Amino acid sequence: MTNTVEHFIDGKRVSPDSGKKCDVLNPATGEVLAEVGMQEVAAADLAVASAARAYRGWSETPVGDRCQVLFRYKELLEQHFDELAQMIVDEHGKTTAEARGDVRRGIDCVEYACGAPSLMMGRTLPRIAVSTSFSRERQEGIPLDSSLERVPLGVCVGITPFNFPIMVPLWMWPMAVACGNTFVLKPSEKVSLCALREVELASEAGLPPGVLNMVTGGPDVVNQLLTHEDVKAVSFVGSTAVAKHIYKTASIAGKRVQCMAGAKNTMIIMPDANQDAAIDGVMSSSMGNTGQRCLAGSVAVLVGDTPEWFIPKIVAAAKQIKVGKGDAAGCTMGPLIDKASVDRVTLAIEAGIDAGADLLLDGRIGVRHMVSDTGCQTPELGGGCFVGPTIFDNVPHDSALAMEEIFGPVLSILRVDSLDDAIEVTRRSPYGNMAVMFTDSGYAANKFKDTAGAGMIGINVGVPAPMAVFPFCGWKDSFFGTLHSNGEDSVRFYTEGRILVSRWF
Ligand code: NAD
Repeated sequence: MTNTVEHFIDGKRVSPDSGKKCDVLNPATGEVLAEVGMQEVAAADLAVASAARAYRGWSETPVGDRCQVLFRYKELLEQHFDELAQMIVDEHGKTTAEARGDVRRGIDCVEYACGAPSLMMGRTLPRIAVSTSFSRERQEGIPLDSSLERVPLGVCVGITPFNFPIMVPLWMWPMAVACGNTFVLKPSEKVSLCALREVELASEAGLPPGVLNMVTGGPDVVNQLLTHEDVKAVSFVGSTAVAKHIYKTASIAGKRVQCMAGAKNTMIIMPDANQDAAIDGVMSSSMGNTGQRCLAGSVAVLVGDTPEWFIPKIVAAAKQIKVGKGDAAGCTMGPLIDKASVDRVTLAIEAGIDAGADLLLDGRIGVRHMVSDTGCQTPELGGGCFVGPTIFDNVPHDSALAMEEIFGPVLSILRVDSLDDAIEVTRRSPYGNMAVMFTDSGYAANKFKDTAGAGMIGINVGVPAPMAVFPFCGWKDSFFGTLHSNGEDSVRFYTEGRILVSRWF
């Protein structure tokens, strides 16, 4: 019998109801790993109730003691590093190297949250003014002291996507609980096994029951959490369409909200770029994680005569990619997350062909062109959700290939005459997550940085992912809210400022 992924509520695993379920698959093999309850609304209420009960005791626990639990948690994550990475390979499909990166970047966030005693510190300004008493009976002025304290909010909720099963939840809850909040995590239904293990280890590290809860499910569960009267703040990471719904619904319900959303990221390659660095950067950005990354550079804009050297080299590099099961020897690209993603990416490739773009490399498995012409190494791909590296040249600037998020290993090459034309391609995108330039020119790099219209800029770097100490700074349709996740923004998001003005007679 298939096991059902349990919730984690009040410090223990809780069996889901018998309502609607969906399968959790190993996307490389099609094997059913478990099933997950999708309409666990009652469980969502239980999780919030548990978090609400735990809030007072936890928020009154000294911040240093709260962080001691996170120090122990970091040690547990290191001890279970290989186990967690393998869980990601099995449930998500990443290569072993990518899965290890997912865990490592997650641990960075825990380490940063361990600094909460300094990060939460307020400010004081003694004798900010001198006042007289209202009755004016006293002649001498009375000094006023003022300070700003940072205090927790209450119960916070996190809703996470499938593409970084361990790291993205760690963007949220460690800082939230370090600041004294309690938390309910609703992970993607596609990777709930990883999330359950992450949460359970926190309990083993000594997080008291109710401080961190996890409930599985889909939209019904999310909607229940967004409007629950005991929830104070909502963090979301996922697609732009869902982000807009979450932002609107939770804001109207009076919650503090941050939504990190989808993207379509441009990489400009100037003729003077270091060629090997540009090829390496574009490859890792467009093909890494099988293109399932909000920082994936999926559009390469080639300026002037760049195509002469870039095109043959990028196609040759992509042909070296070995597609397969993430932990198979030599594998450099795993599957997409599910069959629906294979269908979506396949449709995008077909739409690109219809739009008149030149297909240089076709990753559709079983398509003759790929097997015979491209030289991509495709081992036994069985029942897996595979699409190999795909490259289009001469992509029309207004086509879906150029404008819409595909979330698969598809690189669209656009050609332009000048630096200004290239920057214009970047600027007109409705998204603003990241933009990258490969160049040897400081002038071009600076102009690009100032005008690209994206919140994360890479210069000769394919994936300009901020480390945990900096906020994850998406702009435009890649972010809804004011304070981003990670870095000092996350401290401010998970705390409220409180002003104290005092005088003593
Ligand atoms: P998704 O939007 O489909 O799902 C994200 C979460 O929302 C899941 O937990 C899911 O159960 C829930 N959800 C889905 N539909 C919902 C609905 N109608 N109502 C309420 N909740 C709903 O995203 P995904 O496919 O899991 O992840 C990929 C997307 O996430 C991509 O668009 C990617 O760019 C984006 N992403 C963004 C960032 C960032 O920091 N900007 C980081 C990672 C991923």
